[in-house]
Amino acid sequence: MKDPIDRKKIRSRFWERFALDKLTDTEWEALCDGCGKCCLNKLEDPDTGEVALTKVACRLLDDQTCRCSQYPIRHQFVPECIVLKPDTLDQHAYWMPETCAYRLLWQKKPLPEWHPLLTGTPQSVHDAGVSVQGWTVPEFEIDEEDWEDYIIEEPT
Ligand code: SF4
Ligand code: SF4
Repeated sequence: MKDPIDRKKIRSRFWERFALDKLTDTEWEALCDGCGKCCLNKLEDPDTGEVALTKVACRLLDDQTCRCSQYPIRHQFVPECIVLKPDTLDQHAYWMPETCAYRLLWQKKPLPEWHPLLTGTPQSVHDAGVSVQGWTVPEFEIDEEDWEDYIIEEPT
């Protein structure tokens, strides 16, 4: 699979050296490991705020590449898809996957050893078994009221 990030354009170990709001657009995008887990539907308990992950994927998720199939124009189809930026991270980090680099850095934690920024290849996230590759179900096949039957533990 083609690497969506031009890794020549990013500064060495930038995530350890610069604040999140001082990164270039390419560096910000490179923090995404391409796991696809944030594109799975979640169920949030309105009373406790607890978030459960399901294997029911957004209609635009490509389950093989684990990438959005229409990323630049996704809001035409999925207007509620969030735009994650340094100034919106506070609002979203609580529901993001445990292994997500944005969440980890927000928590002041290091990146996992399989992260593409450390391995140099986006394949490493799949090889480590932490991506959604090959096991999601598309949301147009499952009624929303049945999503709770598809709750999973996050692969970490
Ligand atoms: S969970 Fe985080 S690292 Fe994984 S695809 Fe979403 S934004 Fe990228
Ligand atoms: S629109 Fe694309 S980026 Fe947004 S949740 Fe769906 S697959 Fe993920």
